[in-house]
Amino acid sequence: RFITFEGIDGAGKSTHIEAVADALRAQGEQLLLTREPGGTPLAEKLRELFLHEPMDALSEALLVFAARRDHLVTRIEPALAAGLTVLCDRFTDATFAYQGAGRGFDLQVLATLEQWVQQGVQPDLTLWFDVPPAVAAQRRAASREPDRLEREAEAFFERVRSGYAARAAADPGRVRRINADADMASVREAVLEVVCQTVR
Ligand code: C5P
Repeated sequence: RFITFEGIDGAGKSTHIEAVADALRAQGEQLLLTREPGGTPLAEKLRELFLHEPMDALSEALLVFAARRDHLVTRIEPALAAGLTVLCDRFTDATFAYQGAGRGFDLQVLATLEQWVQQGVQPDLTLWFDVPPAVAAQRRAASREPDRLEREAEAFFERVRSGYAARAAADPGRVRRINADADMASVREAVLEVVCQTVR
């Protein structure tokens, strides 16, 4: 199974991926834990460029899809074929949310790129960690140095959030919203409940 984790920066998804990984390992699942942009030597190099070099929305989209193609073909698909459960920190919903809704890049073009690059491969389950941008900003400020994209204004993250909401509305069977504006223990409980329904 292929499970992805999404949300605006500071939503807390990275922390909860660890909890999911622990719970699935305890059930005897074999896992591939990975992230986007990144996950392969080539894609991690593209990630560095993506995070630190200023560029327009089209370049961002092409770069993340190039990284995704390499990641999918060389790591994700082989892992799925071998029966592993793949947990991936961000995937294509992030491209629709950030480059599409956030930067205003054409959603039809993104859908075409998605089709070319993924050839129909989609996550079985996507957990969308939804949190108000103001809460996420406080969490980011408390925990890390911002990268190029985390310096964006709250209005940008409002658009990204609405981009995630649109993806969730378009594919409610796959994308499950998690209210991440809650204490860690209750978010964790909600996450594990949704994951356990999928992985049995
Ligand atoms: O989730 P993570 O912190 O690893 O993401 C790295 C950075 O890349 C974040 O600032 C995120 O907002 C940004 N990003 C993006 N567009 C994507 C994927 C990630 O702007 N498609």
